[in-house]
Amino acid sequence: MHDTGIHKLPAPERFRLPLMFCAAGALGVFPFAVIRFINQQWWAAILDTAIVVGFIILGTVVLRSRQLRFACISISTLCLVGYISTLYMIGPAQVFWGYPAVVVAYYLLKPEEAVSATIATLLVMLPILVSEFELMAAMTIAVTMLMTSAFAYAFAGLTRGQRQRLLDLATRDPLTGTGNRRALTQTISEAIAKQQRGGTPASLIILDLDRFKAINDEYGHGTGDQILVELTAMINRRIRANDRLFRIGGEEFVVVADGQDIYRASGLAEQLRVRIAQGELAPDCKVTISLGVAELHPGETGENWLRRADDALYDAKRGGRNLTRVSHVTDGTGEFRIPAEMMQ
Ligand code: GH3
Ligand code: MG
Ligand code: MG
Repeated sequence: MHDTGIHKLPAPERFRLPLMFCAAGALGVFPFAVIRFINQQWWAAILDTAIVVGFIILGTVVLRSRQLRFACISISTLCLVGYISTLYMIGPAQVFWGYPAVVVAYYLLKPEEAVSATIATLLVMLPILVSEFELMAAMTIAVTMLMTSAFAYAFAGLTRGQRQRLLDLATRDPLTGTGNRRALTQTISEAIAKQQRGGTPASLIILDLDRFKAINDEYGHGTGDQILVELTAMINRRIRANDRLFRIGGEEFVVVADGQDIYRASGLAEQLRVRIAQGELAPDCKVTISLGVAELHPGETGENWLRRADDALYDAKRGGRNLTRVSHVTDGTGEFRIPAEMMQ
């Protein structure tokens, strides 16, 4: 799905563009409102004032409630409706406002929405173009507006693409293509928010290849890399669509098991451990993994959750490796479906 891409920016930058458009709109139209009041062009003055007030209100909405999508749609609508209104109420010289009004749409709306908005604007302008301008002048206005839109479409698309590539570079591990530690932090925050909203459980599985240094030494770094890539592919095949895999260190990975309590997550962890120990990754060299599992406790921080999973992993390493260990579980009934030896 295409999107505006704005929501992917870090918080301060995300609001900069809509705020800048609101400030430019209010400051740009304000002098005209004043002059029209002085010249006693009341209807035009009221319209300009309404546009200025509209931009100020929307700027405040962006700053206060931070409902970005709503704000972007409203700002684009105000630009285009304001432009068409002044064109019809004040006169054909207002046609120049159409250019910035159209450009705004390409930066704040989805590309297909901006194209539709441009076409609609041109269609609504058509009667004025035909009745108020000579043919060549009308054609020049229409063609230059289409060219401005095409450039805005291209630049906005370029910016979106670069933003996406930068985001990938910052959040993706180049060897395995999984998310990195930075991406994990984001997913953990989302899992915590989801639990706070609806009580949805979530579990972390941390896994680390056992004695990987020795595998590199024996089979070479290239084989080591290949094992990491195959491990990633194998885990991605086993986890569900909503679960996410991250590489957070050289040979250390985390699965965020969405909606899974400790029992189901530890079942998944054991499944992964057994398959790898059976030689599914690299039949020629003996690869095993150790795993630590922790379910998110209500009210706990992401760091604490990760630390508990990491402690469980450390316990699995201390216990002799090729093991799954689970962070302390209290279920009240005393009926644990997790084998006691997996408990930390
Ligand atoms: P343990 O069972 O205690 O985890 O032992 P280990 O040897 O796996 O752990 P240690 O932390 O001592 O060494 C990790 C090794 O992982 C060191 C390095 O050779 C290897 N490693 C880290 N990143 C990569 C990588 O990107 N590619 C390859 N091939 N090896 C890596
Ligand atoms: Mg290791
Ligand atoms: Mg390690």
